[in-house]
Amino acid sequence: MRADLHTHSTESDGTEPPAIVIAQAAAAGLDVVALTDHDTTGGWDEAGIAADRLGIDLIRGIEISTRRQGASIHLLGYGVSTEDGPLADELAQTRISRETRARHMVDLIAQDYPLSWEQVLAQVPTPETTIGRPHIADAMVAAGLMADRDEAFASVLHNRSPYHVTHYAPDVAHAVRVVKAAGGRSVLAHSLARKMRRPLDEELLDELVDAGLDGLEVAHRDHDAHAQEQLRRWAVQRDLIMTGGSDYHGDGKKNRIAENLTSPEMVARLR
Ligand code: AMP
Ligand code: ZN
Ligand code: FE
Ligand code: FE
Repeated sequence: MRADLHTHSTESDGTEPPAIVIAQAAAAGLDVVALTDHDTTGGWDEAGIAADRLGIDLIRGIEISTRRQGASIHLLGYGVSTEDGPLADELAQTRISRETRARHMVDLIAQDYPLSWEQVLAQVPTPETTIGRPHIADAMVAAGLMADRDEAFASVLHNRSPYHVTHYAPDVAHAVRVVKAAGGRSVLAHSLARKMRRPLDEELLDELVDAGLDGLEVAHRDHDAHAQEQLRRWAVQRDLIMTGGSDYHGDGKKNRIAENLTSPEMVARLR
């Protein structure tokens, strides 16, 4: 059984609609795929219809933007309820703040580059899409100001760029509790990636396990062999679920669907 538990669609910053992501997952020979858009469950219905039609197993997921001491941390949530409640409230607040933040960033960028908010909006696929820096990147590429998303992220969109603005995000321990309260399972995404301003340490991990964290994403292209070994050791010591995923974003990133997988045993535990 082949399972990829981390993908994005046009509901956030992926470039393919949910149904296409699922079709690509099936074409790549996956048996199980999770759609995990940033801060939204908006792609689940379309993905579910496509998955039923193609006979592939869909796990309904989400990648929640969280923070700890100013540093961004991504938390994957699986099988959460979409009912009104603390999780839905947090996601709504984050999405509203993401739009305000994107407008603010574009105001700052527009002082030095010919870029308008309308040009950015033209790159946002639907009114419900979770807006992120990749959409600003796409507008700059469309305007001929950047070659691709990578170039935009390496310069004006970088965390430490003078044009960077942060958005609201819940504290990571609070997010773990809220996922639990919504009946889901939580897995820390790419927590030892080189780009992380705050790589995971055992003190934070133990705090999150106490809050109800279920697992660690181990197999991910931003984790080198050493990082994967460290995460595996931490997970085994605490009996946590270990996952793998591609973090596929369509043409928006180099990550290819199914490039990292989760074992059948771990998929069963997640469920
Ligand atoms: P934001 O969530 O708006 O702060 O933007 C960060 C998101 O942009 C990450 O979650 C990635 O999915 C995406 N991203 C980061 N770096 C790159 C890059 N170099 N190329 C394309 N997408 C990126
Ligand atoms: Zn993304
Ligand atoms: Fe992420
Ligand atoms: Fe992701």
